[in-house]
Amino acid sequence: MVTESFRARKYNEVGILMAISWPTDRIHELHDSGYSVLEYLGPLFRGSNRTLPPMDHVEGDTYAELIRGLWMVRCSEPYCSGATAVTSLNSITACPSCGAGWFNVVFPANKAQIEKELMKRPIPRVGMIFANWLLGEPMKQLRKETAVLLEGV
Ligand SMILES: [Zn+2]
Repeated sequence: MVTESFRARKYNEVGILMAISWPTDRIHELHDSGYSVLEYLGPLFRGSNRTLPPMDHVEGDTYAELIRGLWMVRCSEPYCSGATAVTSLNSITACPSCGAGWFNVVFPANKAQIEKELMKRPIPRVGMIFANWLLGEPMKQLRKETAVLLEGV
């Protein structure tokens, strides 16, 4: 519980630029909200007075994580706290906070298994605050946390 609360608070404090709302019923990717990558990132870049990087160059890979039921990536630039929603249908992204990009988005090989486990967890009225998976978190740990949440400890 402490770990989950900390994660949610941390992401609220960095002030994620969101053009979509947090999921309330099931795990989402960017395309579930009806946005393509460019439709989502375009307004965010304009809002930051930045232009989208040229699409003929890829900087490297970035790794998707699940935050409050939404697949996202954190910016890989060490000085940037930006985070953006991502989709596996067109798995590229750029960072509206610092202008870095483009990056290939890499989802975990066991994405479906992670999602299935997290959907076992309670969904409070405030949303999917317990549906979090950070890079490298093993299934064993997720199952343990789910058990604790279901027991209400
Ligand atoms: Zn950035």
